[in-house]
Amino acid sequence: MDCRLRPDESHGGEGLTAARRLDGTACAAQIRSEIAPRIAAFIQRHGRPPGLGVVLAGEHPASEIYVRNKIKTVAAAGCYAELFRLSAGATLDEALALVTRLNAREDVDGILVQSPLPEGMGPGAEQRVFDALDPTKDVDGFHPYNVGRLVQRRPTLVACTPLGCMELLEREKIPLRGRHAVVIGRSDIVGKPMALLLLHQDATVTICHSRTADLPAMARTADVLVAAIGRPGFVTRDFVKPGATVIDVGINTLTTQAEVFRCFPEGSRKRAHFAEKGSVLAGDVHPGVEEVAGALTPVPGGVGPLTIAMVLRNTVTAAENRVS
Ligand code: NDP
Repeated sequence: MDCRLRPDESHGGEGLTAARRLDGTACAAQIRSEIAPRIAAFIQRHGRPPGLGVVLAGEHPASEIYVRNKIKTVAAAGCYAELFRLSAGATLDEALALVTRLNAREDVDGILVQSPLPEGMGPGAEQRVFDALDPTKDVDGFHPYNVGRLVQRRPTLVACTPLGCMELLEREKIPLRGRHAVVIGRSDIVGKPMALLLLHQDATVTICHSRTADLPAMARTADVLVAAIGRPGFVTRDFVKPGATVIDVGINTLTTQAEVFRCFPEGSRKRAHFAEKGSVLAGDVHPGVEEVAGALTPVPGGVGPLTIAMVLRNTVTAAENRVS
């Protein structure tokens, strides 16, 4: 398989070698095929499939897409997956009541509450809802019990996006022991668990954030650089040591020409896509990085499919753990 980025995705720069493309779509397909026998065995033994309940509150276009993809993938694998909707005006008490009902359902092994919850639920609502989950059903790994287990290096259910990044690094045989990993972003959902997982693989880890001094210089010391920021094209080539592995977690939807022109070169497929559709997806990593990095995840087709594969795997793991 040719792992190089396609020429029309290149950012120019004659004579420079394009980074190896870390194909998240192919890796996710492989993981799904490995999980299939576990699902079949569960059904045979328990007379029902592993079950996932997904809670979606409000109307957030990106969340609709994420949730649809998660349910589709989990159902296609032979599990039971059901969407539970709450209106945009739903209260925190209604969300907590729904979680309590799902906690009690025998056929629901995993519960996923799609973030963000509507602002009307008040500050801290998301954490209150995550805290209310039965930790054995917490397939996102956001409950303090599961976070604590991860910190203590005895994880049960781990946040899906960082877990997916680790799967990709392992399967692509990217060395971590003794290497310097820099994670840009310190969210509870991505940055912090990512840093812990890298640490547990014996990387030396630095976590960066919006207050980090001279971020490009810090990032340039990384053998493995993880960008989880939420700013399109933020990580430019001056952030990257030649040959480093770069994991682009960011998913940003660009809707203005100025943003698209800043992120993508003239003649690129992304500009053409924007001209046709009016929006285009961009990662946190600028395409020019492909000329410097040794390996790079694309957006889309990098971390996204792995996150979904980990939702499936965590659902099956939760089901197996609950009945054992
Ligand atoms: P958050 O907004 O929760 O966190 C962003 C982090 O980036 C914060 O720690 C913030 O620092 C840091 N940051 C923001 N601006 C800067 C800056 N100028 N310099 C340095 N650091 C900065 O985002 P998430 O962690 O939830 O998500 C990050 C990205 O990953 C988003 O694009 C999101 O869409 C994407 N994502 C993708 C997933 C996938 O499946 N591929 C799944 C989940 C998220 P500070 O703490 O100081 O504010």
